Amino acid sequence: MATDRETSGPPRSARYSSSGPTGQRRRRPMGRGARRRVCAYCGDKAAHIDYKAANQLQNNISERGKILPRRATGLCARHQREMAVAIKRARFLAMLPFTSEQRHRS
Ligand SMILES: [Zn+2]
Repeated sequence: MATDRETSGPPRSARYSSSGPTGQRRRRPMGRGARRRVCAYCGDKAAHIDYKAANQLQNNISERGKILPRRATGLCARHQREMAVAIKRARFLAMLPFTSEQRHRS
């Protein structure tokens, strides 16, 4: 039963690389009456997403100009939808990119 020597493998712990739009993960709050984290616009009374505020909308698109999913934005369903509409409007007004501006032309 005695194992004399363990075969030492490569360490598996060094896999994590911090690459992501949000470096930290949301913790699930434990306990009773834990407040759900509401989205940034629900907390605000002026819960209206302005399509003209392009720099606000920019937080919710990726580098390639794609709308980030709710997981990344942390918005509620209602405001995520509003955000998506606002981004699309802003795109039409050329305030946000449809795609990334880098083009590989040769
Ligand atoms: Zn909301």
